[in-house]
Amino acid sequence: MNQANPSISPMLHPEPVAAQSLFQNRIGVLATMHRKEQVIAPLMQQTFGLELTVPAGFNSDAFGTFTREVKRAGDQLQAARAKTQQAMQLTHHTIGMASEGSFGPHPAFPYLPCNREIVLLIDTANELELVGEAVSTHTNYSHRTITSLTDAQAFAAKVGFPEHGLIVIADHVTDSRPVAAEKIIKGITSEAALVEAVQWALAQSEVAHIETDMRALYNPSRMKVIAQATRDLIAKMNSLCPQCGTPGFAVVERRSGLPCGLCQLPTPLTRSVIYQCQKCGFHQESLFPDGAETADPTYCSYCNP
Ligand SMILES: [Zn+2]
Ligand SMILES: [Zn+2]
Repeated sequence: MNQANPSISPMLHPEPVAAQSLFQNRIGVLATMHRKEQVIAPLMQQTFGLELTVPAGFNSDAFGTFTREVKRAGDQLQAARAKTQQAMQLTHHTIGMASEGSFGPHPAFPYLPCNREIVLLIDTANELELVGEAVSTHTNYSHRTITSLTDAQAFAAKVGFPEHGLIVIADHVTDSRPVAAEKIIKGITSEAALVEAVQWALAQSEVAHIETDMRALYNPSRMKVIAQATRDLIAKMNSLCPQCGTPGFAVVERRSGLPCGLCQLPTPLTRSVIYQCQKCGFHQESLFPDGAETADPTYCSYCNP
């Protein structure tokens, strides 16, 4: 098919049987020290028969931490790639995986905290690099400056403690600059440990800092978003290029212009998405990805200026 003239087709259907054969009965390495295998490994096993191992003593913290000792080098994808490549070199597996999270204000609603997770798969035998992604506002990501145990307990009550862990820092923290390891107590998951940590911090600093522990094993909310990103990765692994059969035939662009249901003028809503193969470059436009062929006039700048 001519790449300059993308054909228009209805939604593509994945072909799991064919994708399965690429990954079945293989062993891959998952670069984690935070028990992410608990959510990622069963999904990969059930879907593809792909077994994941975790390298003993792998130090993913060397690539950046949420607990402020090590600043992450590069962006989220670069960090995930560096971890994956190191674990693959250590173990000589041809499949490597890692996940990487980030937290911050939601791009569209800045007052809402949000969690973006990516799950990366590198397969050197098939020359593949695929990325699953999930963005969720179901996160307890939060912090506070405290001057008393009461402050700390009030904070804890709001962020899902003790199921979700906490971090206490014996210092006034104002930005994301690294903090010396001896000033941090992390992985706090009991009332007794919280009391002890806050007393320890306030004995050496007038103000202390408390925040949610975002490491996956201390944060069940984050584990759920990692599972969501893994399912997105699985969908991409199952989506094969119609031309060359390579997995990862995925949406690379959304085009606006869904016509208004009343006046037919284009609106900012998505009219079509472009799927593209990263191996052969074949691309295909898929119309009306959200199901409706017209937009509600609420979104029309002519009908509803
Ligand atoms: Zn292709
Ligand atoms: Zn209109």
